[in-house]
Amino acid sequence: MSNKFKILVIEDDRSIRTFTKTVLETNDYQVITAETCESGIMMFSSYRPDLVLLDLGLPDRDGLDFIRTVRNDQHATAPILVLSARTTEHDKVDALDLGANDYITKPFGTAELLARVRAALRVSQSSFNPLHTSDGKFSLHDLTIDYERRLVSIAGEEVKLTQTEYNILIFLAKHPGKVLTYAMIIHEIWGPSDDGGVKKLQVNMANLRKKLGIKPGDNRYITNELGVGYRLNEGS
Ligand code: CA
Repeated sequence: MSNKFKILVIEDDRSIRTFTKTVLETNDYQVITAETCESGIMMFSSYRPDLVLLDLGLPDRDGLDFIRTVRNDQHATAPILVLSARTTEHDKVDALDLGANDYITKPFGTAELLARVRAALRVSQSSFNPLHTSDGKFSLHDLTIDYERRLVSIAGEEVKLTQTEYNILIFLAKHPGKVLTYAMIIHEIWGPSDDGGVKKLQVNMANLRKKLGIKPGDNRYITNELGVGYRLNEGS
């Protein structure tokens, strides 16, 4: 019997599939593989993996179909990491909006693959937010959020945020390490029927980052995933 994490790799490119399988097995994961979307869906329901690595360009169907099918089953919560070689941000956004948890852009190395897999498993295995302290606050480096008092501070100094900026920060803080697309954040903050939301979000985000002391191009606390969305950086 083994209690290793089981990872399903769906990838038609033989060299990437072999590389990924070897890296994961070397690091004590159990790996099963599929080369088509159809067989990936079958293996997912038969083996119930703990995590899926998914190529989007599959020979039979689009990898996005896999995400759609699997996310229809609300008990199938295993994280899905998309392996994307596509240059447009569009596919990543579609994948995330359909319920993928993260993406890794090809070509990727061993360290990046393992870091993303570990992070996704850590979040999915824990019902607790890893960045929440025992007294119910949020803490990341010198940034603290006191939910009860709705107070944000950096190194003990209060940061005055607008209601919207606070709500955006809280939403990101709820999903550490996960890329949240523009559409997800806009839906959460302004509701389902908001036009021109991206511009509004970018303006609020720019102000929020400035107040948190994040300079342009700097990724402290929050990474700007250009053309896709924003990610709250987990403490490393
Ligand atoms: Ca492919």
